[in-house]
Amino acid sequence: MAPSTHPDLLSLEPDALHQALVRHFENRGQRSYRAGQVQRWIYEGLARSATEMTDLPAAEREALSESFRIDEPVVDRLSESRDGTVKHLWRLVDGHLVESVLIPTEHRLTLCISSQAGCAMGCTFCATGWGGFDRQLTPGEIVGQYRASRRWSEEHDRGAITNIVFMGMGEPLANRAALHPALTILNRGYGVGARRITVSTVGVVPGILELADRPEQFRLALSLHAPDSELRRELIPLEKRYPLAEVLDALQRFDEAGGKRITFEYTMIRDVNDALELAPRLARIAAQVRAFVNLIPFNPIPYQDWVPSTPERIRAFASALVAGGVEVAIRETRGRDIEAACGQLRAHALTQMGKARR
Ligand code: SF4
Repeated sequence: MAPSTHPDLLSLEPDALHQALVRHFENRGQRSYRAGQVQRWIYEGLARSATEMTDLPAAEREALSESFRIDEPVVDRLSESRDGTVKHLWRLVDGHLVESVLIPTEHRLTLCISSQAGCAMGCTFCATGWGGFDRQLTPGEIVGQYRASRRWSEEHDRGAITNIVFMGMGEPLANRAALHPALTILNRGYGVGARRITVSTVGVVPGILELADRPEQFRLALSLHAPDSELRRELIPLEKRYPLAEVLDALQRFDEAGGKRITFEYTMIRDVNDALELAPRLARIAAQVRAFVNLIPFNPIPYQDWVPSTPERIRAFASALVAGGVEVAIRETRGRDIEAACGQLRAHALTQMGKARR
């Protein structure tokens, strides 16, 4: 069956959604307050179909289903870690698979979501990079991961999702046509505070500048992983297109835009990027844009024989950064028993299906 060409209610920004619904109901001779009813079902009721919208007359539910679609991803598989981390592998309407991860900590429930099915960036430390690129997600498919995860979380007494990070599959700033509406929908539609949403990038400069220009205070994380261009190029091919110096200039713009916290993500890989001599350089560039540094032990992936840095080395690296005046946190690896690192579940699913590309 060919995919429906009707507008997807989950992909429309709140104003456009309102206008489309008002037009729809006016054309049917209905009062415009019906638009507000449907919006409440979308944003508060997390309705998956018009049939759930029980305060609409049956004829209006049917007409709504005939004019619009709601393309929320469905669960393909779910795995839960001993540490409470929950990973969903979602099947999209055309069968592609994407992942999201719920990560509970003491005061937060963070949802890590995907922005693309696969990724074209080819970072050598990342399972998604090894799996290749399938396609861009729509705003509705990005937002749909939040809705479905929120519903799951409510049904399983895991509490409310407090934070969203775009650190799942894909480079969000390489899908800006969907990212920008998705940010607006999450913020203004579902009420997730901008400061509670973090966009993570490997350094797509035009995208960083666009985010700097947005009035909301979305957070930005740079997947840095090396403090100089030569080493970074080996880990992140995009470094050749957008060298670190240019990325830092863009981050400076983002920082100057005011109140917008920047984080550096630094995956610690033994004997690859964990030499102590690198710490002062990292401290210098972190100070330049007032970035907070997260040190993350490398999570082994199927196609690489790299291993994480030792805990002693990570602590020594962190101390050297603190000595350089930088705020640092050492992140524990969550959900290792369920392959919760970016792209791992899909990478294994693809391998099982004989589809791994490299
Ligand atoms: S780290 Fe991010 S940008 Fe790089 S390959 Fe993985 S998903 Fe893509």
